[in-house]
Amino acid sequence: MPEALLYDKLPGQRVRCNVCQWRCVINPGKSGVCRVRKNDNGILRLLNYGRVSSIAADPIEKKPLFHFFPGSLVFSLGTIGCNFHCDHCQNWEIACVEEPEPISGILREISPQEVVRLAKRNDCAGVAWTYNEPTVWFEYTLDSAKIARENGLYTVYVTNGYITPEAMDMIGPYLDAWRVDIKGFTDKLYRDLARISRWRSILEMAERAKSRWNMHIEVVTNIVPTMNDDTDQLTGIAGWIKEKLGELTPWHVTRFQPHRNLRYLPPTPIATLEKAYNIGKEAGLRFVYLGNVPGHAHENTVCYNCGSTVIKRVGYNTDIIAVKESTCSICGAELNIRTSTSAEAGK
Ligand code: SF4
Repeated sequence: MPEALLYDKLPGQRVRCNVCQWRCVINPGKSGVCRVRKNDNGILRLLNYGRVSSIAADPIEKKPLFHFFPGSLVFSLGTIGCNFHCDHCQNWEIACVEEPEPISGILREISPQEVVRLAKRNDCAGVAWTYNEPTVWFEYTLDSAKIARENGLYTVYVTNGYITPEAMDMIGPYLDAWRVDIKGFTDKLYRDLARISRWRSILEMAERAKSRWNMHIEVVTNIVPTMNDDTDQLTGIAGWIKEKLGELTPWHVTRFQPHRNLRYLPPTPIATLEKAYNIGKEAGLRFVYLGNVPGHAHENTVCYNCGSTVIKRVGYNTDIIAVKESTCSICGAELNIRTSTSAEAGK
């Protein structure tokens, strides 16, 4: 098992992992909150390096990323383990492992070099770490991202955003897009839904991804009835995006479907999603999208300046109608659509 990066050795053969904001202090023989980083006699070892649970060539719109290489395919990989334990997790079978060994039979070993080779063979323009939280196999994503970049592929984290600044700064030079969940906007919401207390660090890391590393950012809020569908939280998220990430940052408000411990709740009413859409627009956001509602008009990208539909979407079918580089080809308005990697853009 490879040794972890970014950890401290402590007295008594204990270690402190510094990859995510839990900063777990781990006793010998034990693992961290994510269950996939284990203290082996004072050395922090990775139980999931290169061990893939899920793999697919997905439309980039499935992440969802709507303003980043639209219409492209992205080679998508997930492993096991997570640093959050959300009550409504859709991927809990791979995310919420107690120990990896019992399910190791379902994992496939894929080297970083093989990731790039498979991505190209499947006509993918980039690589995404998704399905479960990418930071829990940080070292593998870092090694893979470096090679992907060398081979002209873009790189994407689909993340809960709970990374530390030092991990962000280590992988920042090799990441192009930060697709981050902002699950709510109160201590109570993050505590109740995900058992997380330091949630404001998620906001700080998203701001850092943009300001220091020039990543393309898109924000997702899965709207769960009775938990984060109130006007105060939605207004808080929308206002933060506008102020800290900019009015051209896409915000996806997605429909909750009952899962795991929240099966007793109903799916999000469409009217609630439309309320969130209006809150985003009133806050000044130019691009608010409804998710998990195929065929809804708010899946499309509409130019805020001339009103033209510039990208039409139905589910994962994407029709690029009027985009020239990052702008509306009809009126020239800037749409914050990225079609070159950060490296190509001079990062
Ligand atoms: S990555 Fe895992 S072990 Fe490291 S701090 Fe986060 S939860 Fe703890």
